[in-house]
Amino acid sequence: MKDIYEMMRLKKRGYSYKKISEVTGWSTSTIVKYTLQHLGIPFSLCLASAFRDCSLMINPKKVLKKMKELLQLEKDRRGLSKDKLVFIGMADVANYYWCAMKSLLKNKKMELEFFGAYLKDRINYSFRLKGSGLMPDMDELPRSPDELLDIGNEITFRDIEKLLKERAKMLELIKANIVDISFVDLHAGKRIPFESLSPKQRGEALEIRKAERYPTIRWNFNWEDYVVVGEPDGITDNFVYEFKSTKNRFLMNFVKPVALTQADLYGYFFKRNQKRVQIHIMENDVTETFEERVDKFHAIETLHRFKSIDEGEKPLPPKEWKCRVCEFKGICKARSFCP
Ligand code: SF4
Repeated sequence: MKDIYEMMRLKKRGYSYKKISEVTGWSTSTIVKYTLQHLGIPFSLCLASAFRDCSLMINPKKVLKKMKELLQLEKDRRGLSKDKLVFIGMADVANYYWCAMKSLLKNKKMELEFFGAYLKDRINYSFRLKGSGLMPDMDELPRSPDELLDIGNEITFRDIEKLLKERAKMLELIKANIVDISFVDLHAGKRIPFESLSPKQRGEALEIRKAERYPTIRWNFNWEDYVVVGEPDGITDNFVYEFKSTKNRFLMNFVKPVALTQADLYGYFFKRNQKRVQIHIMENDVTETFEERVDKFHAIETLHRFKSIDEGEKPLPPKEWKCRVCEFKGICKARSFCP
């Protein structure tokens, strides 16, 4: 198998694809294949092939429409109604401890995105795991939506661990400054004042600057009728890592139970016994660290509580100030204030 790290090392040294081809003896098409593989092209190719429509490679609106169709088909295949919430995210489930109703509404809003993550990971990892088959051959491409949804059925948790090890190797190269960290450069290159960023962008920027760096991988797990998608901020052999930032110490008291629960969910699904959680408090510029055993019982209990709310149990309203800044305050019937 050709070594993608070698190719990226040469790119870092400013080699063109043509020059890399001369140095390595690989054809330029092989090098382009590696690049496409890295960008997740197998997913786009498979989608286009399953629906026999090449425009799906370049038309995001059409892709969105087809993804909605595929989500319904997948629910159908699982014997679930099209209105049933199936694809949920670990981070949004952990948000139960911020507001139970918000946790439910956010998961509903994000379901198509979680399904997209589930599908892309299954397809891209499946082709990645085939080793030398970096790009799907014609006869490997799905010929129907059903065949598309079957891709990845064979992936085991052991395979996910194998891919994680691959990423750990890549991270070592990044740390050794052999491979360019383009996403960090992109963020740094924007030069937008920190104060002008949205809360979400601030969190992301702080994560890049303050969070510890460990390898990670996104994957999904079946729990009862749900498919739970998650990507910890880090996974080592021994622990899962979660990093959060918050404005001040008062808010940290509300963020901490969410962060610890999120790490419990990661630990439960990704089979790690320890969790390392860091919360950066912006007003003091300090980072609090919590290292504890993963509470698997708490993770399962949270999933059950979330399920009860999803099945119609009325949640307790949160503190009024939470509702006043909530993105769902216009539609939420559980809010704790009258407009
Ligand atoms: S408006 Fe209040 S109760 Fe409703 S989802 Fe938002 S925080 Fe929760």
